[in-house]
Amino acid sequence: MAPGVAAMMKPLILVVEDEAALVTMLRYNLEKQGFRVEEAADGAEALTKVAEARPDLVLLDWMLPQMSGIEVCRQLRRRPATRDLPIIMVTARSEEADSVRGLNIGADDYITKPFSMEALLARIRALLRRAGSPSAKGSLRFHDITMDLAVHRVFRNGRSVHLGPTEFRLLEFFMQHPRRVFTREELLDSVWGRDIHVEPRTVDVHIRRLRKALNGENEMDVVRTVRAAGYALDVEPH
Ligand code: CA
Repeated sequence: MAPGVAAMMKPLILVVEDEAALVTMLRYNLEKQGFRVEEAADGAEALTKVAEARPDLVLLDWMLPQMSGIEVCRQLRRRPATRDLPIIMVTARSEEADSVRGLNIGADDYITKPFSMEALLARIRALLRRAGSPSAKGSLRFHDITMDLAVHRVFRNGRSVHLGPTEFRLLEFFMQHPRRVFTREELLDSVWGRDIHVEPRTVDVHIRRLRKALNGENEMDVVRTVRAAGYALDVEPH
């Protein structure tokens, strides 16, 4: 096999980090493990590099000069081309509480500094496996619900469920992040898009429609209302 072809098949990781020494260490270790590495030292550069180099995964530092990692993540999630791009947020221990916010904003996973290379590699491999599996691309599954994204159809318990376009996007978003609680504002950001002005209570209306369509007779309510917090796709008793 020509070296060029082999290189093309190696997954490309974009390391977004402003600490040069850490970037050097990460590049060395990731390349040794068979990954290709691109670098970005700030948020703006990260967004450019994502568009140009089309990485398979982004390792995104939380604390960056100017634009924070969270804002980079938010922007990537808003763009259709990068909506499903695997993102691992890197946080310092003191920011651990914020990591949850990172997940809510759309990061797939996070790792706390200082971390071992083994822990990082395990997360990277797990995430790449998930992203590359056909089920992640063509359909989503949660409990007894299946979404076939290619043909835009939803099934629960084998029965076809008819959803409006907003309910479909809402369910798709929930199914990409099962069990995570999202505030109305986060749902507006992620499902409606930030530029569209919609009242937070609009979310309640669509949640109601989604529930009505999804929950058949004797079926468990899969949408959990978390008082003063928001909503989650969950089947825990509530
Ligand atoms: Ca940093």
